[in-house]
Amino acid sequence: MRTQVGIIGAGPAGLVLSHLLHLQGVESVVLENRSRQYCEERVRAGVLEQGTVDLLCETGVGERLKKEGLVHGGIELRFGGKGHRIDFRELTGGKTITIYGQSEVLKDLTNARLAAGGQIYFEVDDVSVHNFDGNEPKVLFTRNANPEELTCDFIAGCDGFHGICRPAVAKALTIYEREYPFGWLGILAEAPPSSEELIYAYHERGFALLSMRSPQLSRLYIQCAPDEDIQQWPDEKIWRELHKRLESTEGWKLIEGPVIQKGVSGMRSFVTEPMQYKNLFLAGDAAHIVPPTGAKGLNLAVADVRVLAQAITEFYKSGSRDQLNRYSEICLRRVWKVQRFSWWMTSMLHLFPDASAFDQKRQRAELDYVTSSRAAAESLAENYVGLPMA
Ligand SMILES: Cc1cc2nc3c(=O)[nH]c(=O)nc-3n(C[C@H](O)[C@H](O)[C@H](O)COP(=O)(O)OP(=O)(O)OC[C@H]3O[C@@H](n4cnc5c(N)ncnc54)[C@H](O)[C@@H]3O)c2cc1C
Repeated sequence: MRTQVGIIGAGPAGLVLSHLLHLQGVESVVLENRSRQYCEERVRAGVLEQGTVDLLCETGVGERLKKEGLVHGGIELRFGGKGHRIDFRELTGGKTITIYGQSEVLKDLTNARLAAGGQIYFEVDDVSVHNFDGNEPKVLFTRNANPEELTCDFIAGCDGFHGICRPAVAKALTIYEREYPFGWLGILAEAPPSSEELIYAYHERGFALLSMRSPQLSRLYIQCAPDEDIQQWPDEKIWRELHKRLESTEGWKLIEGPVIQKGVSGMRSFVTEPMQYKNLFLAGDAAHIVPPTGAKGLNLAVADVRVLAQAITEFYKSGSRDQLNRYSEICLRRVWKVQRFSWWMTSMLHLFPDASAFDQKRQRAELDYVTSSRAAAESLAENYVGLPMA
């Protein structure tokens, strides 16, 4: 089998890349080791930056997003039992975020690719990448237990943090990493969201976040140990903790409902430099991870592949490798700014196990500053709605 771009992974990075390349007349094949259903049901990110929404809408995959996405003009920072709104519209000249689950984004992209005759092979096994330092990169894999080979001009490693592409070029990469001494215990509950907008709560018992996926589904998180045993958290205990951490002196009430999904995830900041080696390009979680506090993971993946699609298109139009050679440099400038923001939000809002009384006073001062200074609030808002894509 031959194509122009072999894409490993049908997550947001792989599917958006395949879609953007198709619009420019560039062929690709996407290889995914999970089933379509598994990919479309995985509960993950849900906050889309303005730039991500614009890109999906401008490229024809935003119809359902426009209808069903919940547009939010701000978030609430809650501490000391009181809410403080950061008004994105007012602070950024009209920009917003949209709540639309990653699983919905993936459904829309998969449908669009398949309707356009795109090739996505789900449930492939034993994927390995070869010859990417030459002109005939190759991907080997098995499908229905039969060995197959895909030759291409470029390989895009969009296979997430645990994929095979980054390890294949590990020798050429430098890793920058920070692990956090806490994780998030998250639930999805059949309950209408208790607030129209997200609530980020700083509390002496630890951080809590109230988010949502739809008018019927709430997504809620509490800070926990990175290796927290979910078995020790029956639903009633989770709700009790959420009530305490989201407490309000302003008459606000948390609405409960049946918990339909729950899990614990650790938190890390991770960047690989460069994000490319010869004809293999890493994008999205394969190249970097952010703690979820800034809601950036999916958006960063989309920003990367936008740059990659432009560079590959430029190569096929003019034969020039200039943009391809600069792919990593262009992406990393934005990646590091987003890393900084995600680290900052995380550091401001979580209780660090070794925090001194001084650290906690400083955190409260930071929250007080962000919610009382226009300059500080503007900076949060500008980053939250999304920095320019490139
Ligand atoms: C549990 C969890 C919860 C999250 N919650 C949030 C959140 O609330 N907010 C937020 O902003 N971000 C969140 N994120 C991050 C966000 O979901 C990711 O940043 C985003 O999915 C990145 O997209 P991607 O395409 O780069 O990687 P992925 O979505 O990971 O896609 C990679 C794809 O490659 C496939 N793959 C892996 N290995 C192979 C292989 N060897 N062969 C073929 N295919 C392979 C995988 O099955 C997957 O489909 C969460 C992530 C996780 C893991």
